Amino acid sequence: MSDIADKIELIKQQLPLGVNLVAVSKYHPVEMLQQAYDAGQRIFGENHVQELVAKAPHLPGDVQWHMIGHLQTNKVRMLMPHVSMIQSIDSVKLLRTVEKEAARIDRVVDVLLQLHVARETTKTGFATGELLSVLSVGELNDLPHVRIRGLMAMATNTDDQIQIEREFQLVSDTFRLIKEEFFSAHDEFDQISMGMSDDWQLAVKHGATLVRVGSAIFGPRQY
Ligand SMILES: *Cc1c(COP(=O)(O)O)cnc(C)c1O
Repeated sequence: MSDIADKIELIKQQLPLGVNLVAVSKYHPVEMLQQAYDAGQRIFGENHVQELVAKAPHLPGDVQWHMIGHLQTNKVRMLMPHVSMIQSIDSVKLLRTVEKEAARIDRVVDVLLQLHVARETTKTGFATGELLSVLSVGELNDLPHVRIRGLMAMATNTDDQIQIEREFQLVSDTFRLIKEEFFSAHDEFDQISMGMSDDWQLAVKHGATLVRVGSAIFGPRQY
């Protein structure tokens, strides 16, 4: 068994039923992704469209590629044939572009709405109030080629575990509120993506259904 396989196995053993691992493979070569694949990993997360599109043909067709980085509208067309889920929807404009490009190639794509909860202003995503108002006025309705599956968030980059837990709980509470208010008839609205290498256990404790783990599997990022 490879080192990568061991690390994946160790994480998966600790994930409750219904919580899935996204192996964040940005800046790692396809050989390492193949090792993860051979260990049974099927969901891979990438931050950059070009990198995802370049890697996809080198891995088996049953890989589910998740876009987790900030996405520019002019890259959506290139991404669309390859991506399984776009986790980083951070504006109405982006979601409309995703709808248009998915329709263009006659597919439906899963998305998550990215919620901004971290202290850093550099991180992207909807503010909670903004997301609630966008949903209230129905701006995210009538998009037949997107399936809104839930929320994605990144916690503040800090050693303060209390702060991180508070943010994860806020995401969970917001998910529940949005589910009740706007998606109660939508069984597919069932995903919360949060937690990375240093804090995925905390994220699971607060209701994550997808954890995005990179360096704890693949080591420090390369090239
Ligand atoms: C890089 C990245 C991760 C994984 O980070 P690690 O600390 O390497 O586990 C998770 N989510 C997003 C959005 C990222 O950009």
